Amino acid sequence: MLKFFGDGGAFDINRGSTSAFYIVDKTLILIDTGYGVYEKILNLHLLDKVEKVEILITHTHGDHISSLASICDYLKFYNIMVRRVDYKIYYENSENLIKLLKLMLIDWADKIVFKPSQCKYVLQCLPQEHFENAYGYILNIAGKTIFYSGDAKHINETALSLLKQKKIDYFYQEVTLIENVQHTNIKELIDNIPSDLRSEVYCMHLNDKTASEVVKFGFNLVDIAF
Ligand SMILES: [Zn+2]
Ligand SMILES: [Zn+2]
Repeated sequence: MLKFFGDGGAFDINRGSTSAFYIVDKTLILIDTGYGVYEKILNLHLLDKVEKVEILITHTHGDHISSLASICDYLKFYNIMVRRVDYKIYYENSENLIKLLKLMLIDWADKIVFKPSQCKYVLQCLPQEHFENAYGYILNIAGKTIFYSGDAKHINETALSLLKQKKIDYFYQEVTLIENVQHTNIKELIDNIPSDLRSEVYCMHLNDKTASEVVKFGFNLVDIAF
């Protein structure tokens, strides 16, 4: 379902930052915009195919938003020099994101940043235990229900309950092998997600070792776009 620019953790430059996209209704939906995402949007010619860009942000760690200011600058240029493409950014703590973008000289930030409740693809924005103001999303894209965890210390209970009720088509969950950090340990996935539901669960924010472990236990890796 979702395509990914990368599926790596915060420092894993070989796997690329965990950020996803999907094109539907002539709209490029971006979920997070970590390092390398700006370049990949251009290299994959994603703007050629769309009239709108909708950007959902899970939280403001650099590996999730470090391309955001460049994307805003480029879209401003694109609208003047190439053709019109509307773009909006959604984040629950919109006030702080506007301040941050204005410091990065995106002085029109208050006209492009909105709350996730204003995005037609968002069913629910779920607070996640990670650092401050981190969120996951339940989305409806192209008729499919998707959970996207963002970074989170635990599996979100609302999302897990929906998965068990067979109400989620694609469950994207961050996972790590290391214990006692602000990320979901693989043991929590193994203990809470029964084998018959693992085919719907896609793991992200990985390093190479974690990637080979999750596959051993019947979980999936995400679909990387090249
Ligand atoms: Zn991260
Ligand atoms: Zn984070």
